[in-house]
Amino acid sequence: MSPRVPRSVRWLDRCLAAHARPQQQLLFAIIQGGLDPELRLRCIRAMTQQDMPGFTLGLRVTQGSPGRIWGSWGGFRGDFGPQSPPWLGEPPGVTPSSPLPSYATDLVVCVALGCDMFDCVFPTRTARFGSALVPWGSLQLKNHQFAKDFRPIDADCGCPTCQRYSRAYLHALLRSNTAALHLLTQHNIAYQMKLMGSIRDSIVQQRFPEFVREFMDTMYGGRGGPPAWAREALESVGISLA
Ligand SMILES: [Zn+2]
Repeated sequence: MSPRVPRSVRWLDRCLAAHARPQQQLLFAIIQGGLDPELRLRCIRAMTQQDMPGFTLGLRVTQGSPGRIWGSWGGFRGDFGPQSPPWLGEPPGVTPSSPLPSYATDLVVCVALGCDMFDCVFPTRTARFGSALVPWGSLQLKNHQFAKDFRPIDADCGCPTCQRYSRAYLHALLRSNTAALHLLTQHNIAYQMKLMGSIRDSIVQQRFPEFVREFMDTMYGGRGGPPAWAREALESVGISLA
């Protein structure tokens, strides 16, 4: 057996014993076991013996393709408790560990599989490369095609960058001033906050599967449809994109 599972379980006991400020800080257990469902289940069973506010799914992107990763998550979310369907699950919170990418599609699929929280550098890092996130993908604003494009990044975005600056202005600024990266960061964070807010609203209004289908249509409608891994992962929790 991988030494990580028993070591992490023992480490959790030590962390709980040392946790001096439970009112100010939440301590999350890290579920180990890689892509082995038996090891994962063993780790979850041991760690859910403790009264934890949340769990992190320990995983490295090098452990498999996104489809395999998301598929394996869908298989064990139910082990946390009797939640069905997973996106309506009650606490504890579950969050994937970094450095998993947080592309918009990843966020939507992970929520469908039962994840509640995300922590990733993606929106700020991609901004530093000059890329603006939009519902239909992303805009690489360094490209010449935006030199005379006087529309905002996204006409439906309420962020300060979209309210004040055009794609053409940001394109020009990217060539000379790092302030452009700050403006793109502001937009990308606003985009992901809005996305998560929309996901939350759709869950409350009990129309999450419809939201997922609309999201995938907008994101992949002109690009041959959603990737197979997303389709398969969503089907594993009863959301059909057909
Ligand atoms: Zn914006």
